[in-house]
Amino acid sequence: FITSARTVRSPSGEHLGAALAYHEVTELMRAMKVKDDFVTSMSHELRTPLTSVLGYLEILADNDELPGTARSQVDVVRRNALRLQSLVSDLLEIAQFTESGLTLERAQVDVARVAREAAEAARPHAGRAGVGLTAELPPRVVAMVDEKRIRQVIDNLLSNAVKYSSCGDAVRVALSHCDRELELEVTDTGMGIPETDLPHVFDRFFRGSGANVQHIPGTGLGLDIAGTIVDAHGGTITVDSALGEGTTFRMRLPLAG
Ligand code: ADP
Repeated sequence: FITSARTVRSPSGEHLGAALAYHEVTELMRAMKVKDDFVTSMSHELRTPLTSVLGYLEILADNDELPGTARSQVDVVRRNALRLQSLVSDLLEIAQFTESGLTLERAQVDVARVAREAAEAARPHAGRAGVGLTAELPPRVVAMVDEKRIRQVIDNLLSNAVKYSSCGDAVRVALSHCDRELELEVTDTGMGIPETDLPHVFDRFFRGSGANVQHIPGTGLGLDIAGTIVDAHGGTITVDSALGEGTTFRMRLPLAG
């Protein structure tokens, strides 16, 4: 049951009592579970053949006798198979969070190092897109976090920042901290997010109008996953944006975990 309550007042504002409403949602919950189970089992079924497709594509790409046109066709197929693989792994990850929650493997981690490594890994992608990438990182900021998960969040923010920017734009990752928490910012001078889209960017499967209009590939799952990871750490992730000017994502994490 979902319950909701409200006070009932007369037109003059006099308190008359309270109304309680109970909504029976068993059927709805059952339907949602069937949907989740379907998505999970489809994702599992897709994973094995996809691995095999990608394996053979690697072999084809390594074949020196392949003519130039065939090589570029293999490349297109491979890129799309990789996109499918990343969609499947995002779906499986979300299914796992929903089913058994997110288990963190926390340790004392130098988040400045993690951000530096993420920025270096994003540099070739940014370079190919003609987007400048700068990192303003202190030598060391240690926090009690799950390194793999926090790296996943930073990777996602950086890859979005580049993806939603154009040639000549700039992306900046910065890290600062006080006694109790750290703050990591990823800022870009890209397309920005319309005000009507802003409240929804962390929703599952949400794709903004900019992404849709410009046919920028994506699944609408990255920020949902990032939000879940930051929540599990007891932190917050927020976004500021101005359409046509750029976007800043800001993650705050407690240092002590
Ligand atoms: P995806 O990028 O796969 O669509 P995300 O969950 O990562 O999914 O992001 C959701 C939406 O938020 C995107 O479709 C896009 O509209 C918007 N968005 C995210 N990051 C940025 C950014 N740096 N600049 C502009 N829009 C962004």
